[in-house]
Amino acid sequence: MDSNRNDSPNGRNPGGPKKPKGNLWVTLLFSVAIMLLFSGIYNTIVDSQYTETTFSDFLKEEKAGNLSEVELKYDRIVYLTKTEAAKEPAQQKACYTGLPTGGDTMAMAERLAAQGVKVKEEIVEDNSFITMILSYVMMFGIAFLFMSLITRRMGGEGMMGGISKNKAKVYMEKKTGVTFQDVAGQDEAKESLQEIIDFLHNPLKYTEIGAKLPKGALLVGPPGTGKTLIAKAVAGEAGVPFFSISGSDFVEMFVGLGASRVRDLFKEAAKVAPCIIFIDEIDAVGGARDNRFGSNSEHDQTLNSLLGEIDGFDSTKGIVVLAATNRPETLDKALLRPGRFDRRIIMDTPNFQGRLDTLKVHTRKIRLAEDVDLKKIAQTASGAVGADLANLVNEAALRAVRKGRKLVTQEDLLTAFETVMMGSEKKNSVRTETERRMTAYHEVGHALVAALEKNAMPVSKITIIPRTGGSLGATMYIPDEEKNLYTREDLIAKIHALLGGRAAEEVVFGTMTTGASNDLQRATGLARDMIARYGMSKELGLLSPTVVTNQYLDGQSSLDCSQEIAATVDKAARSLLESCYEENKKLLSENRGLLDEISEYLLTKETITGEELMAYVNAAKHPSEEA
Ligand code: ADP
Ligand code: ZN
Repeated sequence: MDSNRNDSPNGRNPGGPKKPKGNLWVTLLFSVAIMLLFSGIYNTIVDSQYTETTFSDFLKEEKAGNLSEVELKYDRIVYLTKTEAAKEPAQQKACYTGLPTGGDTMAMAERLAAQGVKVKEEIVEDNSFITMILSYVMMFGIAFLFMSLITRRMGGEGMMGGISKNKAKVYMEKKTGVTFQDVAGQDEAKESLQEIIDFLHNPLKYTEIGAKLPKGALLVGPPGTGKTLIAKAVAGEAGVPFFSISGSDFVEMFVGLGASRVRDLFKEAAKVAPCIIFIDEIDAVGGARDNRFGSNSEHDQTLNSLLGEIDGFDSTKGIVVLAATNRPETLDKALLRPGRFDRRIIMDTPNFQGRLDTLKVHTRKIRLAEDVDLKKIAQTASGAVGADLANLVNEAALRAVRKGRKLVTQEDLLTAFETVMMGSEKKNSVRTETERRMTAYHEVGHALVAALEKNAMPVSKITIIPRTGGSLGATMYIPDEEKNLYTREDLIAKIHALLGGRAAEEVVFGTMTTGASNDLQRATGLARDMIARYGMSKELGLLSPTVVTNQYLDGQSSLDCSQEIAATVDKAARSLLESCYEENKKLLSENRGLLDEISEYLLTKETITGEELMAYVNAAKHPSEEA
């Protein structure tokens, strides 16, 4: 859901790239190269029309009286023998040979003419030399024009821009106009950054005492949690310019360019200090130097030059480097040494309060209807990061406009949430009645298992409207509280709910569908974590061989253990899933009437709420009360 979040994939900012001066030289160089190439090609073509011979060959022909026509050029003799002249004009092939140095062409011309050979003498030698020079100049001119046209076309960013020293991707804002008020939540981060702001305001206060401030801080967190935003806010709060560049911009095809780019960036920044330099995706350049495939000298050079610049700049001037990453564990240790990025500021996925504040920030300029309850939205949107919420609010506003309304309603916000998280509804997709039925039972299977279990999260909504994201239906839950700690029972309840769909398929239709693949994947992940990470199984006991490799990106993990242990984990996970699945089938068979009832209802309504579901469940639990 967040693959497209980084506004521009290669960090190219639309904010007006400057055309670098280096371009002119490169264009010139290329023009000369093209000119030489063309004149070479031209000469080859011309030469191929003639047979090359030696001067003594020529003299032999002359002695034999076999010469028909001779042309004396400034650098060569072109001649046609009588044998060739006798042929059809199209098949005649003239010969050429070089002029002997110091040879007197005038005398030769007279001698040949006396023998009755047709002699043509080219207009004076130095004149042809001028012609040659002129033709080269002309070719150069054309090549130059051509090259500058191409560079212009590419907006100075293409081939030429890449080869020359290019500063275009550095993006500078004199005033970011962003303050801490625009950043919701993230209070710890703000607090850590407060000192940096104060330092930028008044460097003297610190240097007088002799205190050294950190030159840089590392912003660590998942994508979309506002790392760029908070860096801008620091610049905004301190009222200093903001330089930004993405780490991936440093890493170029051409060796040495990244390093020169780093130097340029710091040079520019020093001119306007105090200021903030923000390096997004620093892991692209700051990745550890040894764990790469082969040696990567460009990467190393860039990193070394970055380290050099950070060490080199005078921190009393007030340059602070903020760098963002979601993979801090991959960074080269040298970057994290004292005096470099030794401060780590965590930007976490927001909790309920954080989400609510983010929604408030982004709805400040939106006209909201009376019925809007941001708390409810914040509750539903558990797991969403700042960027998702900003996107959600905007989608809701767009929807209101589409519907011709002046205010954004709660329904707009809820629908937008689903669109952002799952893709939009597929209105006219064709589904057979069997497919719809199976989907309905599958979803109700999930929901019913969850509803009948005491540790499960309450269901908020069930739908069988297909989404562009590829889902045929969905069951959504409200996490009733922000949990930081899960018990074994909680996790088992989750596995139950995840396997409820497949269980319903088997209980009702006696078959299995492909619709459960995502459920199974997630259930398997959970089961493996319970066993190999949380120490919740008999088979492995407290052994926890799981290593989380990518905490801030997608929580990827791997097993660090012997093959036997890995096999044990697989076996234990399988038996855990199987027992959960059997329990599900039993539960659904026992409640078959309820399953049918709710599924029929869902088929007619397509979307039902958690309350509607619970009304059915409660009615079945306490039949006497209903009567
Ligand atoms: P990151 O750099 O961490 O990937 P960004 O700073 O680019 O994330 O966030 C993208 C957008 O998401 C921001 O421009 C902002 O609109 C919104 N956003 C993210 N976090 C917050 C937050 N804490 N408060 C307000 N808006 C936020
Ligand atoms: Zn499912």
